[in-house]
Amino acid sequence: MTHRILILGGTTEARQLAGKLAARPDFSVMLSLAGRTESPLAQGVPVRSGGFGGADGLAAYLSETGTGVLIDATHPYAAQISANAEAAARKAGVPILALRRPGWEAVKGDRWLEVHSVAEAARVLGEMPRRVFLALGRQEVAAFEAAPQHHYLIRSVDPVEPRLAVPDADYLLARGPFRETDEAALLQQQRIDVVVSKNSGGGATYGKIAAARALGVDVIMVRRPELPRVPAAESVEALFAMVGHFLEPDAERGV
Ligand code: NAP
Repeated sequence: MTHRILILGGTTEARQLAGKLAARPDFSVMLSLAGRTESPLAQGVPVRSGGFGGADGLAAYLSETGTGVLIDATHPYAAQISANAEAAARKAGVPILALRRPGWEAVKGDRWLEVHSVAEAARVLGEMPRRVFLALGRQEVAAFEAAPQHHYLIRSVDPVEPRLAVPDADYLLARGPFRETDEAALLQQQRIDVVVSKNSGGGATYGKIAAARALGVDVIMVRRPELPRVPAAESVEALFAMVGHFLEPDAERGV
C-alpha cells in the first residue's frame, strides 16, 4: 500500500525530510511551497506551489488527493499556514505531525533584546541613528520605514521590491547558510552596531548571532509566534522515525 504524504515546506529541513521519505517505495510524497521565492532550490521530489485558499482549501486538497498524513515543516514564523494546517487536518480527519526546530537560547556574552514583533523591533532601535543589519526576509522589512533615521543593511534571498522608503539603505542578495567568520567580516566592514533577527533556530543562520556576540554587537531578537500544539519532532531524523511508527504501527511492534 502506498501512503500519500503532504509536506508543507519552504525550509531546508522540509527538503531534507521530503528526500528521506521519498526514498521509501511505499510513500508517495508531495512537497508544498508557498511560491514566494523566485527561483527556489531544486527540491528533488514532486512539488506543488502556491496557497491552498485557507484552511478549507487545504482540507479539500487533503481529501481530494487521499493524503494519509500531513506534515507541517514550515518556518517557525510562518504562523498562518501552521494554524491552517492544524485546522485543515482536523476538518479532513487526516493526522498531522510537525517539524518544530528548537529556537536559539541566549548564552553568556549575548546582548539580546527580545521583542514580540518586527514593528516593536523598529521602535526599540531608538531615536539616535544606528547602523542596523536586517536579516529578516523581505516580507518584514517594510516595518522599518517607521524608523527612517537609521542606516540599514538589508539582506534577502530575492530583491526587496519596492525599495524601502528610507534615505539610507544598502541591499545585499544572498542565500544561506552563512558562516560565522563571514558574518563577522560583514558586521565589521559595514560597522554594524545592531542586528535584527528572528529566532529561527538551526545552524544555517546562527553565524550572525555568534558573530554579534564575539564583536559585542547588540541583537534585537524577534520572538517566535505561538504555533498550534500538534505531535511534533525537533529534527528531520526524529520526524522521519515518527512517520514510520505512525504509518506502520504493526510492523514497528513486530506483529
Ligand atoms: P504564512 O504567513 O504562515 O502563510 C501565508 C499564506 O501563504 C498561507 O495562508 C498559505 O496560503 C500560503 N502558504 C504558506 N506556506 C505555504 C506552503 N508551504 N504551501 C502552500 N501555501 C503556503 O507564511 P509565510 O511567513 O508567508 O511563509 C511562506 C513560506 O515561506 C512558508 O512555507 C515558510 O516555511 C517559508 N519561510 C518563511 C519564513 C518566515 O520567516 N516567515 C522564512 C523562511 C521560509 P493559503 O491560505 O492560500 O493556503
